[in-house]
Amino acid sequence: MENKRDYYEVLGVSKTATPEEIKKAYRKMAIKYHPDKNPGDKEAEEKFKEAAEAYDVLSNADKRQKYDQFGHSMGPQGFPGGGFGGYGGFSGGGFTMEDIFEQFGDIFGGRFSNMGGFGSAAGSSRSRQRQQRRGTDLRIRVKLSLEEIANGASKNLKIPTYVACEHCNGTGAKDGTAFATCSTCHGTGTVIEQHQSFFGVQQVQAVCPTCEGTGKVITENCTYCHGEGIVRKDEQVAFNIPAGVADGMTLTVRGKGNAPRHGGARGNLLVVIEELKHPELIRDGQDIIYNLMLDLPTAILGGTVEVPTIGGRARLKIAPGTQPGKVLRMRGKGLPTTESSTRGDELINVMVYIPETVTDEQRKAFEAMQGASNLTPNEDQKKRIFSKLKHIFED
Ligand SMILES: [Zn+2]
Ligand SMILES: [Zn+2]
Repeated sequence: MENKRDYYEVLGVSKTATPEEIKKAYRKMAIKYHPDKNPGDKEAEEKFKEAAEAYDVLSNADKRQKYDQFGHSMGPQGFPGGGFGGYGGFSGGGFTMEDIFEQFGDIFGGRFSNMGGFGSAAGSSRSRQRQQRRGTDLRIRVKLSLEEIANGASKNLKIPTYVACEHCNGTGAKDGTAFATCSTCHGTGTVIEQHQSFFGVQQVQAVCPTCEGTGKVITENCTYCHGEGIVRKDEQVAFNIPAGVADGMTLTVRGKGNAPRHGGARGNLLVVIEELKHPELIRDGQDIIYNLMLDLPTAILGGTVEVPTIGGRARLKIAPGTQPGKVLRMRGKGLPTTESSTRGDELINVMVYIPETVTDEQRKAFEAMQGASNLTPNEDQKKRIFSKLKHIFED
């Protein structure tokens, strides 16, 4: 598993692909490289496993978020819930098309109410769970200053969302009660369908398309939501952003996405972090970088200067004889991570301003110094100073 390919690359989708696009891409690959279709083809088997692993991570909002943040370096153990356990079984090569349907189910439009055709008890119970309707996820971008990233932030935003209609309890039926038994499925919620696939014709029990599996049909629409069961609403959503987040990270606020039509669990609100540029400070992971332009007398004589930090201005001691290129470190003035409250450092890159014009008086003073032996470094001093600066040139 060394040198793993990027999961997005494996599935051939962009980093911003929607869950739908990821599912579609995986389905295509799973069918193309399925071992039943490519018997004895090791390369196809590898591709199949690789795609399954990528899908396992990218199809799960939490795992995807961690992957986006940490990449492969996080390793499976970094993912909550035991990580990649789901496809351990693939290594034996004994997987069947059932495994694909197990993972997919809902790709086929959520219509497989059970896997009876494949005779899997485990399959049918898991499919029933999938049948529970869930609304779509909402995605918003939130801009954060470095200060907010350092300390964490509480947000309370008005978000246009589909919520369950109060007048019909999300059912879409007038007063929540105007229902009759579905005549297509006679109230069972399921129908037998024939599916053409590359295995031949399969008879599958599918969710009734008329009543969407509820066994009931609406006889009179709710007049507020026109039978949809959902209405558009600007909803006030409060959530906390932990300290240490990074640009592009996605946080999940559970159950604050859209409600589905005709009842069911709400989707999630996905909060994408956007880091605002600070006018003076540059973020480098956990560290903060500041380019300090020192005046010539302070570089030579030493002194105290004021520098910006995330917590406000701070005073910084400058030693006499400070060379341009020197990097000063203010410990603990950087950022925490979402995992640890230990802060990084602020690194001060020292530059020295050489005056572009001088007064007559200053000119005389500099002329008097010109040629003084201690103002020109000897070989030892040159070596020492350059060796200290070496890391700057090598980076
Ligand atoms: Zn309604
Ligand atoms: Zn029906």
